[in-house]
Amino acid sequence: MLGNGQLGAMLTHAGEPLAIDVRAVDIMTPTDEILPLAPHDIVTAEREQWPESSLSLQLSSHPQFINGHVFSRLADRYSQKSLLDQIKVPTAPWTLVDDHTQVDSLYQRFGARVLMKRRTGGYDGKGQHWLKQAEAGDIPQDWRNFAIAEQAINFDEEVSLVGVRTREGQCIFYPLTLNLHQDGILMASISPLARLTPLQAQAEAMLSAIMHELDYVGVMAMECFRVGNSLLVNELAPRVHNSGHWTQAGTHMDQFQLHLRALCGIAIPQPQVNFQCVMVNLIGIDNDLRWLSLPNAELYWYDKEVRPGRKVGHLNLSVPNQTVLNDSIVALQAWMPAQYQAPLAWVLAEFAKHHN
Ligand code: ADP
Ligand code: MG
Repeated sequence: MLGNGQLGAMLTHAGEPLAIDVRAVDIMTPTDEILPLAPHDIVTAEREQWPESSLSLQLSSHPQFINGHVFSRLADRYSQKSLLDQIKVPTAPWTLVDDHTQVDSLYQRFGARVLMKRRTGGYDGKGQHWLKQAEAGDIPQDWRNFAIAEQAINFDEEVSLVGVRTREGQCIFYPLTLNLHQDGILMASISPLARLTPLQAQAEAMLSAIMHELDYVGVMAMECFRVGNSLLVNELAPRVHNSGHWTQAGTHMDQFQLHLRALCGIAIPQPQVNFQCVMVNLIGIDNDLRWLSLPNAELYWYDKEVRPGRKVGHLNLSVPNQTVLNDSIVALQAWMPAQYQAPLAWVLAEFAKHHN
């Protein structure tokens, strides 16, 4: 596995019951080292981009580097959005920002608010720059050729689909997940949700088309905007994804195991969803042992240095019982800082809608 962040750690953990020996490899620290790889070892990545080194070259040129051609294609928003257009999967209207791009023509084409996104390297809302006509916003020189510009989408909400494609081309999906982002960072997810079921077939058709086109194997996540009854793809991630972390508590086979099974060619029955689940991301917040006293909570603590805005863990709250969930969220509201109040209230409001 190129990359040894929390996704690599959770994939390693998921491999253990299947005796799949996952090695998450640090490819960010410069090294001259190479690994004793066998020809039948399987190589993949938990991130879309990495610096070139003897180690990363060894891994990415291995004959069993699965999806090798996909990472660079999806890592660049320009080629990613071009792919979506090419296969006619709806996405937020966009254009490349190059030397000739005129800011006025962006406003004319997309409206008074235009979102520029760095072509590569953006995550958690980093690498975004809003252009606002009312403030005479202009394109910074160092964004030209390094960004795309997108229409601001006035979406009803954000959802994502996590699915897998096997070597034989079979596609299997989890139910859609409802996501709340704050300042570009995922704060909380809820899945499954009965009210999203009518969108499931539409989402599955879109992600199937994408995975087939790429001849992709493994788990892929598709982030979408819901606008009325339609979905627009926001972005794709060729890997396990934060909005699929709820599957660790909600299903009998989580996204990490699904990914490993697909890569290793192991059978994948439809994952059974045992519980509705709420996932709360832990962003720039110290570990609080009180969380573990909640009856329905599972904590994943990434053991990273806590910094503002940094993802340092997540809490999965399964929802077998509405009262237990409500009590847990109310407890979290008391224990967590200001930036959590809106996301936690959002969770309570969603459940208040349907009292299931
Ligand atoms: P990242 O790689 O940081 O996740 P995204 O493209 O997913 O980048 O953007 C992060 C968040 O910013 C989205 O989840 C959404 O809340 C908001 N956003 C992104 N694109 C748009 C858009 N075109 N219109 C409105 N909001 C957007
Ligand atoms: Mg995103």
